[in-house]
Amino acid sequence: MSPNERRALQGKRLHKLVEYVYHNVPFYRSKLQEMDVTPDDINTIDDIVKLPFTTKKDLRDNYPFGLQAVPQSEIIRVHASSGTTGNPTIVGYTRKDVGVWSECMSRSLTAFGVTRDDIFSVGYGYGLFTGGLGAHYGVEHLGAAVLPASTGSTEKHIRLLCDLGVTGLACTPSYALHLAETMEKLGVGRDRIKLRVGAFGAEPWTENMRKEIQERLGLKGYNLYGLSEIMGPGVSYECECQNGSHIADDHFYPEIINPDTLEPQPYGTSGELVFTTLTKQGMPLLRYRTRDLCTLFDEPCPCGRTSVRMGRSDDMLIIRGINVFPSQVESVVLSMPECAPRYLLVVERTGNLDTLTVQVEMRQEYFAQGFDTFEPIFKLERELAAKLKSVLSISAKVEIKQPGTLERSEGKSRFVLDKRVLK
Ligand code: ZN
Repeated sequence: MSPNERRALQGKRLHKLVEYVYHNVPFYRSKLQEMDVTPDDINTIDDIVKLPFTTKKDLRDNYPFGLQAVPQSEIIRVHASSGTTGNPTIVGYTRKDVGVWSECMSRSLTAFGVTRDDIFSVGYGYGLFTGGLGAHYGVEHLGAAVLPASTGSTEKHIRLLCDLGVTGLACTPSYALHLAETMEKLGVGRDRIKLRVGAFGAEPWTENMRKEIQERLGLKGYNLYGLSEIMGPGVSYECECQNGSHIADDHFYPEIINPDTLEPQPYGTSGELVFTTLTKQGMPLLRYRTRDLCTLFDEPCPCGRTSVRMGRSDDMLIIRGINVFPSQVESVVLSMPECAPRYLLVVERTGNLDTLTVQVEMRQEYFAQGFDTFEPIFKLERELAAKLKSVLSISAKVEIKQPGTLERSEGKSRFVLDKRVLK
């Protein structure tokens, strides 16, 4: 579809959506009335700026079903995302919602080069988290064979990868690394598996992690993005060009705003990603603030897809007045052969002073050599701290962790724990 045709479609869908929530969601009706906006004011996609934002807090305040736009009998699936504080986020899907989701996920897999001849293992957690079932329905929609491996039973998973000649794998990047590590531990060589495509998402990952996963599992890894409030995996996906992720923007309209002023930002500017669900029935959302920082761009992609793409921005931290990027820390960590690409930056404030602690996991093969004293670990911590200081211009405390001890979640995990903002 040409960008102009799509803008016309988006405008039509937005008008319908506003009419729909105005009549079916009291929360939105009163918000729109407060702003003196009626559905008739929304005619093109550019009118979206007249609409109110929705935040995670609105979802929690209306727990559990306050934002639902249909009677309970229309809901066929309910997912819940774990909140670190307060109520979980509950999202109900109608049959049509599950259909659109399956199609978007199937589009993603097609962009990764998956065909009906593939056997695709889903190593996301099946359950309240949207990763497992979301990917599962997408593989079935495409017509490839799905192996619902889920997380856990990693050894059995590896055995099935080998015995069934599984060609595709969907999971978090950290679970992919965990699979690779377990294979090495079990002495299962890369030549025993036939994996060629990886669909990785649900947590931030970097080019260095991509390189490592690709080398160790012998596949090509693609980014898959989604969030349960909007739908689940399949909201955006990389194509073979791997230059940003194409957004399914006929269903999810993206905007970038300045998170402080809430002003819309032009393409190419980094800011907070905001989505409006253009076609959702169960829990439609207007201008949902994702709290993800990224950039949007609409330059034509050589793959031929015309949808807008998104690229993640590196979350910049300001520590003691100095700009620190997690990617700087990562490049230092990866320059040390003893360190795994698993690290966590913990920022705290003691009195008036910000402190940075970098926790890093050791690689299994180095750890396995055995340490009868702590001295080699202390030495590694000192070396890493010195390197970090020269790169970051601030000193950081380094804590070397045993392999597999940093949190590895099924859902979102993070590289940064900023305790200064957790009030
Ligand atoms: Zn493309």
